Amino acid sequence: MIKGFRGTSLVDFPGKISSVVFTYLCNFKCPYCYNVELIVPKYYHSLETLKEDFVLEELKKRKNFIKGVVVTGGEPTLWGKKLVDFLEKVRLETELAIKLDTNGSYPELIKFLIKHQLIDYLALDFKTSPKKYEEVGGEFERVRKTFHFVKDFFENFEVRITLYPPLIDFKELKEMLPFLKGVKNIALQKFLPEKTLKEEYIKPYDLSYYKKIHAYLEENLPETKILVRYE
Ligand code: SF4
Repeated sequence: MIKGFRGTSLVDFPGKISSVVFTYLCNFKCPYCYNVELIVPKYYHSLETLKEDFVLEELKKRKNFIKGVVVTGGEPTLWGKKLVDFLEKVRLETELAIKLDTNGSYPELIKFLIKHQLIDYLALDFKTSPKKYEEVGGEFERVRKTFHFVKDFFENFEVRITLYPPLIDFKELKEMLPFLKGVKNIALQKFLPEKTLKEEYIKPYDLSYYKKIHAYLEENLPETKILVRYE
């Protein structure tokens, strides 16, 4: 399940110094994905698989200076029961807060993790307008279920939007707005063109355009805090 571990990160868990655990495999194919080594078989087959016990020991070693662990991917929820078992061990054997990054395509598992208090913070991707979800290889209907559940039953989450020009512009944002109403935190993320799943070069928006998008969301979602990750 685990193909990577970063001991210390200051940026992956809001407000907490954390370690980051990278799972491999993904059921989406976002053209802007930069974790290609975790989702393309020819790359992930050449990476060593890390044993969960090894990772737990690494977390325990750092207990004096990290406060959280981020489980990211790939798409961690694809690991189902294995992920549950790992998070249970993190809960039992450490005092770390747990953050999960997800594309939201496995609502049943996310519900389970929330109900059993196996996560403390969730970062949920919103890739594009519902109509364009097929362009990332996903089914919006399943993501919609996750959105509803999380909005109603979980406080500590953010919706992440990566500002990739072919998937996010004002037209798409307008169609995404109804799902964003009531969300407390939205993180606007920069698109990094250097190393992506789709090999064609796509020029990112410039800073002034990011700011226009930011202003549009603030105007339409006055109750929401917009977290800036595009600068
Ligand atoms: S959901 Fe995440 S890991 Fe999967 S393809 Fe998209 S960006 Fe990459």
